[in-house]
Amino acid sequence: HVSTKPPPEPSPLRKAKFFQANMRILVTGGAGFIGSHLVDRLMQNEKNEVIVADNFFTGSKDNLKQWIGHPRFELIRHDVTETLLVEVDQIYHLACPASPIFYKYNPVKTIKTNVIGTMNMLGLAKRVGARILLTSTSEVYGDPLVHPQDESYWGNVNPIGVRSCYDEGKRVAETLMFDYHRQHGIEIRIARIFNTYGPRMNIDDGRVVSNFIAQAIRDEPLTVQLPGTQTRSFCYVSDMVDGLIRLMEGENTGPINIGNPGEFTMLELAETVKEIINPKVKIMKVENTPDDPRQRKPDITKAKELLGWEPKIKLRDGLPLMEEDFRTRLAISREK
Ligand code: NAD
Ligand code: UDP
Repeated sequence: HVSTKPPPEPSPLRKAKFFQANMRILVTGGAGFIGSHLVDRLMQNEKNEVIVADNFFTGSKDNLKQWIGHPRFELIRHDVTETLLVEVDQIYHLACPASPIFYKYNPVKTIKTNVIGTMNMLGLAKRVGARILLTSTSEVYGDPLVHPQDESYWGNVNPIGVRSCYDEGKRVAETLMFDYHRQHGIEIRIARIFNTYGPRMNIDDGRVVSNFIAQAIRDEPLTVQLPGTQTRSFCYVSDMVDGLIRLMEGENTGPINIGNPGEFTMLELAETVKEIINPKVKIMKVENTPDDPRQRKPDITKAKELLGWEPKIKLRDGLPLMEEDFRTRLAISREK
């Protein structure tokens, strides 16, 4: 007797067991804002298997909900200040709170995350021969005396200020990366990330774009910190993720600036948010915090030449995309 029925489809579990991934990637801090967008992009490639290690200090499982249970995805509750034993080919090391409110909350922990956390990830990279990318920051330039900032600038950083746990922490992390590279031949990549914005930013994390958008939606005054003439350059998160992947896949160690060179004063940003999101909202000047850099704009010549990368999304086009996500999470729809 010969059956005419086609053979049964393998169950999802069976498929899971036999999937063929040829790149296993660890993303530390993958439950956070940039990390979760990076995971989305990496998971789109069927050849990638992704492991996220996160202690959920500022990140959340919600940011990864579409991948939980996926056969090529694993989520580990883990603090990078402890050692981690996994076998991976690449490490995107993002774990570290990025917003001043959170990194100043427990500054000693922030330093431990940057120093011990980065040493642990470098130790892992050394043991398994993985390539490791560190998300450093434009804060390594401090309150810059060079404008715009290119990678050869050594920075103007206060070593004993309230921001030092973050910016000096990242400077040590960069040093560790290069020492492991020179001493142990580890393959390293360093991205110096400039201010990034987009969906999934923490609503109340105090960063300027998330603050202004939440305030505009709630019809509360936009709080421009004095003097209001300080500048920042804002990169949309999909452009950022694209830059990070190109850096990882390319041949250059960096450090390479990844950011959008479009520069705005905080007053201009407030005016733009007001115009796009809520023309009736008020703008209010408030006290600033210590050591706030007065100007910041990346020189991205290196990223253009070495990675063939430049940002595509202008601030005016990115803000509405973020507004949609914030309205959903705040459950406040736009007045018709
Ligand atoms: P985020 O706070 O949303 O994400 C950081 C993630 O790291 C969170 O999920 C958090 O829970 C996790 N984390 C923190 N400490 C940890 C620890 N000890 N062990 C394990 N996990 C830990 O921030 P983000 O904006 O997504 O930033 C990601 C990376 O990019 C950070 O390294 C940050 O320094 C860097 N960066 C971000 C910006 C920006 O504008 N967003 C600018 C410059 C650099
Ligand atoms: N800022 C502001 N209003 C706010 C929050 C921040 O004017 O409600 C300003 C802040 O003084 C700084 C800039 O926005 O000059 C960027 O601050 P943020 O905390 O977003 O990032 P960072 O200082 O790390 O670049």
